[in-house]
Amino acid sequence: MTSTTINNLPPFSNEPFTDFATVENKRAMLEALDHVRAELGQTYDLIIAGCRLETPETFHSVNPANPSEVIGIHYAARAKEANEAVDAAQLAFDRWKKTSVAERVTLLLRAADLIRQRHFNFCAWLTLEVGKNWAEADADVGETIDFLEFYAREALRLDAATTPIQYPGERNLFRYIPLGVGAVIPPWNFPLAIMAGMTAAAIVVGNTVVLKPSPDAPTIAARFLTLMEEAGLPDGVINLLQGGPEVGRTLVENPQVRFIAFTGSKKVGLEIHERAARTQPGQHFIKRTILELGGKDTILVDADCDLDAAVEGVTAAAFGFNGQKCSACSRVIVDSSIYDAFCDRLKVRVESLTNGAPAENFQTGPVINEVAKKRVLTYIEVGRSEGRLLTGGSNVETDDDGYYVAPTVFVDVAPTARIAQEEIFGPVLAVIRSENFDEALAIANNTEYGLTGAIYSSSREKLNRARDEFHVGNLYFNRKCTGAMVGAHPFGGFNMSGTDSKAGGPDYLTLFTQAKSIAEKCGSIPDTPAK
Ligand code: NAD
Repeated sequence: MTSTTINNLPPFSNEPFTDFATVENKRAMLEALDHVRAELGQTYDLIIAGCRLETPETFHSVNPANPSEVIGIHYAARAKEANEAVDAAQLAFDRWKKTSVAERVTLLLRAADLIRQRHFNFCAWLTLEVGKNWAEADADVGETIDFLEFYAREALRLDAATTPIQYPGERNLFRYIPLGVGAVIPPWNFPLAIMAGMTAAAIVVGNTVVLKPSPDAPTIAARFLTLMEEAGLPDGVINLLQGGPEVGRTLVENPQVRFIAFTGSKKVGLEIHERAARTQPGQHFIKRTILELGGKDTILVDADCDLDAAVEGVTAAAFGFNGQKCSACSRVIVDSSIYDAFCDRLKVRVESLTNGAPAENFQTGPVINEVAKKRVLTYIEVGRSEGRLLTGGSNVETDDDGYYVAPTVFVDVAPTARIAQEEIFGPVLAVIRSENFDEALAIANNTEYGLTGAIYSSSREKLNRARDEFHVGNLYFNRKCTGAMVGAHPFGGFNMSGTDSKAGGPDYLTLFTQAKSIAEKCGSIPDTPAK
């Protein structure tokens, strides 16, 4: 990719979804699964300043549908490697911040092209490492390409920024410059898109990073980093550490780490926020945290809506990827005049979902690990005392000991019940009755979160009210509350759902920069200043 092609970049458009109903695409996915299966169980090194590194301990990542299937073996980083990785990123920063925006943008575009070429292959890794069915894996890979393409264009736009006003007698400049070294700490549930998106946003504006993926999805990150190297990533710009909370904590506390880009749970996000706020000896700046956290997302079903569309949207949003999306619908508020009809239809629809191995492309599959399964089953026990079980309510035994829980719906749940307030992050939905629209809106806003929400209604007046009063970062009308598209639905939540950083939106890259204003008195020296 040359700078000429960068100058002629076509406008951004979202990567199309793959139609797995076609014979070619189905065959391609099956072949990719075979291909990836032949590569399972490899050992992956840490990568610091481009060097491969082993440590005394390893951990395994496994297929949640079949935990005896090892996806990758990874060296576990310790505090020593974490601090070395930060040093390496700091060293690389001095060079990388001086590279041209064209060079950085070219890297992202090359990476997008490579992922496009290996689309099915990455889908297969997602299916096997975190249990995404084909469509969910496809959406994750597509979103990754979208982030790379979108942030590439956004970096060019930011680079061309100027002051809104030229003060008389001065030449005024305004530049976005990088922050320095960042820690990128993604969750496991969008292990390619969120991991790559946060990383790409950070480096395209000139930062260098230490990437610490989730221990539930380390292999996908390791393979992404190899691809970035193939795309031309210089040593030290992205350093890869594998491990859990301890490595994360060390990174957050390191006095050279200028910012932390984190996506994950509220609990961990708040801990990072607090830890990052404590100034460390030798630290010369206030750390910035970009925190995208959990949700307790609501769909409001109004009396006059298209009931079939509402049932379909709620089912997809609640049970797509087994409720393991921050945007997943975990509460539905239904007007009492259609409550019984809605519950009847919902029961039929949820019970029609096929449950089984993601590699065989069932509609719903396992949750990520044993801990998640126990947590979800515990909430189901809580739900028994807080509502009436409509369907599901148990784990699902399989020959492979996969971490399956049946799609579960509780009805007649009080708005303040635990299963109506706490993020479960699994296939459990609470149905709440409302007497009128005012009450429905009040219930919709009664959690500590504010990530996504949707309303099904045919009343323009009610949609207008929801637009103004339903307090969430991503609000949808007459469609489900999952499936945000890069560029069209900048993504991020209010309240305890995070700092509302709006990934895939026009302000996102500025979070990874600091703006410098420069004013020169005209005529003070004869030569024309550079931009
Ligand atoms: P998590 O908070 O358990 O872990 C996220 C990352 O933080 C992992 O890499 C983990 O190893 C690391 N980590 C854990 N403890 C740490 C600590 N003390 N210090 C530093 N790092 C630490 O979350 P998860 O289970 O991986 O992901 C699920 C959560 O992420 C859900 O709450 C979901 O809603 C949220 N999520 C939010 C968004 C969003 O955009 N708002 C998107 C996806 C997921």
